[in-house]
Amino acid sequence: MPSLAYRGRLAPSPTGWLHLGHARTFWVAHLRARGAGGELRLRNDDLDRDRCRPEFVAAMQEDLRWLGLDWDGPVITQSERRHRYRAALEQLHAAGAIYPCTRSRRDVLEAAGAPHEGGVEDEPLYPPEFRPAPSSPLPPLGDIISVNWRFRVPDGENIVFADAGSGSQSAVAGRDFGDFVVWRRDDTPSYQLATVVDDADFGITEVVRGADLIRSTFRQLLLHRTLGSPAPRHCHVPLLLDDAGRRLAKRHDALALRTLRARGLDPESLLAEFARQLPDLTLCRS
Ligand code: GLU
Repeated sequence: MPSLAYRGRLAPSPTGWLHLGHARTFWVAHLRARGAGGELRLRNDDLDRDRCRPEFVAAMQEDLRWLGLDWDGPVITQSERRHRYRAALEQLHAAGAIYPCTRSRRDVLEAAGAPHEGGVEDEPLYPPEFRPAPSSPLPPLGDIISVNWRFRVPDGENIVFADAGSGSQSAVAGRDFGDFVVWRRDDTPSYQLATVVDDADFGITEVVRGADLIRSTFRQLLLHRTLGSPAPRHCHVPLLLDDAGRRLAKRHDALALRTLRARGLDPESLLAEFARQLPDLTLCRS
């Protein structure tokens, strides 16, 4: 991929209808890319076989167009890029950066105790006592994977990044987040690995996404470093909350863009409202 001053991406998962929260984040991503005279790619994050549905793939593109957001080039479809994720997994394996983990999610949850502040959607802190010793021999990956492979985080390392949307961020590996899954036992790559490989392969210079993914960014920075790929910059957009202060989730069907559209909402007034809410995020100054 030729290098470009700015290349961003929109990366919805086709697991539900896009809602107001997505619209606001994608609008910021679009403005920052266009404002910088750069490119914007659309990525279809369809690796979750149980939850992704083809009708949502079509709907998300239609909803984005309705909002007036365009993108460049063909849609990047994660399920077609498995060979690239597998190559990265092999690289991590050759570097001794991962290990197979036979513990169930329940084992990890029970050992980790109360969910930490990352909330239920974030991975629980992986208990260090579940790790194999660094000196133990690493089994081969095998053609078909039937255990979770985890990335061993550098305990105690403070990882920092400057975020264009949410300010300076820091987290300590092994304390704020633990060893995380890069490949699942159902033989699918994890979101963390796939997104890092895609951002590197497509020369993404800035990732704009919701602030719920800030903690994932620390993991992704470690993966970029281990894989030797340049990490993009980041702009995490504050989450849109409902009147009760809860985060908007896809289950809030009333806030799905298509519901609002059917009720007569027009995209211009929606985007004007976003501009009032987030006056500082729309220009890429870096
Ligand atoms: N597909 C992910 C999501 O919808 C976002 C991934 C990303 O922007 O890195 O939560």
